[in-house]
Amino acid sequence: FTGVNPVDITPIPDRYFPPFSNDTLSVDRRANATFVILARNSDIDGTVRSIREIEDRFNRRFRYPYVLLNEEPFSDEFKKRVSVLSAAKMEFGTIPKEHWYQPSSIDEGKAEAGRNSMVEQGIIYGGSVSYRNMCRFNSGFFFRHPLMEKYRWYWRIEPDVHFHCDIKFDPFIFMEENNKIYAFTIAMYEFEKTIPTLWGHVKDFIKLHPQYLAKDNAMGFLSETGGDTYNLCHFWSNFEIADMSFWRGEAYTKFFEYLDQQGGFYYERWGDAPVHSIAAALFAPSNQIQFFDQIGYEHNPYTHCPRDENTWKDEKCTCDPKRNFDYDGYSCMSKWDRLL
Ligand code: GDP
Ligand code: MN
Repeated sequence: FTGVNPVDITPIPDRYFPPFSNDTLSVDRRANATFVILARNSDIDGTVRSIREIEDRFNRRFRYPYVLLNEEPFSDEFKKRVSVLSAAKMEFGTIPKEHWYQPSSIDEGKAEAGRNSMVEQGIIYGGSVSYRNMCRFNSGFFFRHPLMEKYRWYWRIEPDVHFHCDIKFDPFIFMEENNKIYAFTIAMYEFEKTIPTLWGHVKDFIKLHPQYLAKDNAMGFLSETGGDTYNLCHFWSNFEIADMSFWRGEAYTKFFEYLDQQGGFYYERWGDAPVHSIAAALFAPSNQIQFFDQIGYEHNPYTHCPRDENTWKDEKCTCDPKRNFDYDGYSCMSKWDRLL
């Protein structure tokens, strides 16, 4: 006796769950794309919930594969609980040590002093080395992981995020067909104390390599002063759909190497969000960056809820339009709008 009463259930066959529509581009055409999720074994419950939501809202129709990454091997329990959630291929990878841990070139005394000072100032994750490892990995290494190399496009997902609306189009195909390299749903201000010297290094890099600055770039999103000072606006990178050939290309490779040499991922607490955002905004024309109003998305404490009322209704959104972050005082959407 197992304590479970057998119940005679006849499952409804799969054919009663048809694709969203026959005209989705994705049915017979898919991009060379994957989801990527960085997580710890302890993130299991949140990871399961996020995958379940993206499957329900999007991926059960599209079956894009998943790559899950961790600096420690994923536990059998983690792999087991995640694997049941999708019919798509799921791969679990361990991150090479040299892509994750603080490099020996960093002066640990100076790094520790930086951490202590941030703790005193009450800066979130100010004392955390692992958070810094994570930010540097997301800035310069995830797209070089062996499991990621075969893909061009990725959609970044985190544990415990929410997808509030049906997504009945293929964002990867949209981006491929419209020559986009980076997509976001939420834009906001960075905490200045995490990146006090970042913009100075960005300006030095541009002086060294002016050829990387794109014509018609999105400097107007980043600066009120034509590039002299940084207004702290960035795309919130816990949601990203982007083209890894941009990160793997010459401009970003040189940019990341240059920033990494300055040590600011450890001496300060540079986030992958400002690093990615500054590069996308400066080294690509602004019309290659896409804002997806259609994708209802939440990462605590902020939500992007579609502004378009037909989208909100037709895609059965669960978000409250009144809670849409786009024109919150802390949002940078108005800086994005002025480029349009
Ligand atoms: P926040 O969104 O800035 O508050 O940072 P999170 O704690 O959500 O971390 C961002 C992402 O990195 C999430 O996908 C986490 O699961 C992941 N992450 C953060 N720290 C670590 C770590 O030390 N190891 C691993 N493997 N993943 C981490
Ligand atoms: Mn997060």
